[in-house]
Amino acid sequence: MQDTFKHRGMRNKLAEIVASQGVTDIKVLEAIKQIPRHLFLDSSFEAHAYQDKAFPIGAEQTISQPYTVAFQTELLKLRPNHKVLEIGTGSGYQTAILLNLKAKVYTIERQQELFKKTKLFFNKMGYRPKKIIFGDGYKGLPEEAPFDGIIVTAGAPLVPKPLLSQLKIGGRLVIPVGVDEQVMTLFVRKSEKEFEKKEFGNFRFVPLLENKN
Ligand code: SAH
Repeated sequence: MQDTFKHRGMRNKLAEIVASQGVTDIKVLEAIKQIPRHLFLDSSFEAHAYQDKAFPIGAEQTISQPYTVAFQTELLKLRPNHKVLEIGTGSGYQTAILLNLKAKVYTIERQQELFKKTKLFFNKMGYRPKKIIFGDGYKGLPEEAPFDGIIVTAGAPLVPKPLLSQLKIGGRLVIPVGVDEQVMTLFVRKSEKEFEKKEFGNFRFVPLLENKN
């Protein structure tokens, strides 16, 4: 598989669709134009890669819809060298968008099959997250905390406390909260104990799962 002029053209259109839904951050839209989403999908879905839709990526998981990826990324308000924790590596598409924005990315995945596959894919593509971790995102990553941003890419039935406590002062947690449907929720850490909370409409994600062990 390769990236072609035709793919780039489709990505420009996709960025326009995402913008028409209200995403305004130029750098985020530029990242959508640059990351070859078709390479993150099984070849059977390649022809549809630039539709604004979620697709299966194996292990009962999905690559998020581009609009959702862009919307969550915009809420993080990233600057170069910001330290970001992603929960739910999945296909690695969201990770690649964060890397394109020059963030230092730590990403956690609990499905071993996806973890292995995506790790190899990152190597092949030359994407360089700081760490790719096989583990449970509910715990966050205390040894690398605090973070400027934490992004959860699965539907969380509740807000894991460790994620709030691993934010820097001024840091932002973007998390879809809910069971069948999720409310996109932003927490900004104002001080050691205070968090500002804002809600941004409904989305649908695969569930953030508790580890069995
Ligand atoms: N960011 C991904 C979205 C994948 S879907 C992408 O762009 O493709 C959500 C992912 O979260 C799935 O891969 C799922 O296995 C993972 N996940 C679910 N619960 C988790 C947990 N507790 N810790 C880490 N990852 C989890």
